[in-house]
Amino acid sequence: NANRKFHNADQVVDIAGVKIGGGNFQIIAGPCSVESEAQVCEIAERVKAAGAGLLRGGAFKPRTSPYAFQGLKGDGLKLLVEAKQLTGLPIVSEIMNAVHIPMFEESVDLVQVGARNMQNFELLKEVGKMSKPILLKRGLANTIDELLMSAEYIMASGNENVILCERGIRTFETRTRNTLDLSAVPVLKKLTHLPIVVDPSHAMGYAHLVKPMAMAATVAGADGLMIEVHNNPAKALCDGPQSLTPDQFDDVAKQVFQLRPFA
Ligand code: PEP
Ligand code: MN
Repeated sequence: NANRKFHNADQVVDIAGVKIGGGNFQIIAGPCSVESEAQVCEIAERVKAAGAGLLRGGAFKPRTSPYAFQGLKGDGLKLLVEAKQLTGLPIVSEIMNAVHIPMFEESVDLVQVGARNMQNFELLKEVGKMSKPILLKRGLANTIDELLMSAEYIMASGNENVILCERGIRTFETRTRNTLDLSAVPVLKKLTHLPIVVDPSHAMGYAHLVKPMAMAATVAGADGLMIEVHNNPAKALCDGPQSLTPDQFDDVAKQVFQLRPFA
């Protein structure tokens, strides 16, 4: 049950030995999509050196257009595993179809359910049977209560290790890709014991807006951040405009870690 009323302590989610929640703060960083061995390994080494605790990378991509790059699929997961062996960083990747559960169970440490599938209830029930923790992203047009009910679906199927992610919602504002609802952090802290991570990359849509909102999310009490990093954003196959270079990520991570003692 996700309700704070039934839990005295904040949930600490253990992802292959890396903890999020209950005072444990982590940055999840990496490319939007895994593109090649060289790309994911270079980014993994750089984000690890900057202090990231987990490596993200999309292998099955939920793209608006069917003609856009759809991800390297199973091969992408294999490259993530290589990057994990190289750096020791646990890996985070999005699942879109329950038929891929055995593949994810074998290779992925934190299984992401993306914004577009937040209310795919059949998928939620199935990932609720997995042994791996789940990162549940808020839907593009879903309320905080709907996010919590989706977490309930996963937990009701037996998986209590759920991390929530605020990644921006659709509003009338078009200047940013989405509108980052930072108020979701303290609101969720009151309602649930589950950890909450903020993704300023997908919320803002532009690299230069990631740092101020990463810092704001940290001060608001987030248990972690998810930040897209690419070794060559101009050539990225997905989400280049919002991707930080490794040098930019170094700076953001440094600033964020400095805020932590006061968070
Ligand atoms: C992602 O994190 O790769 C992603 C597609 O994000 P979202 O589901 O929040 O759009
Ligand atoms: Mn992306």
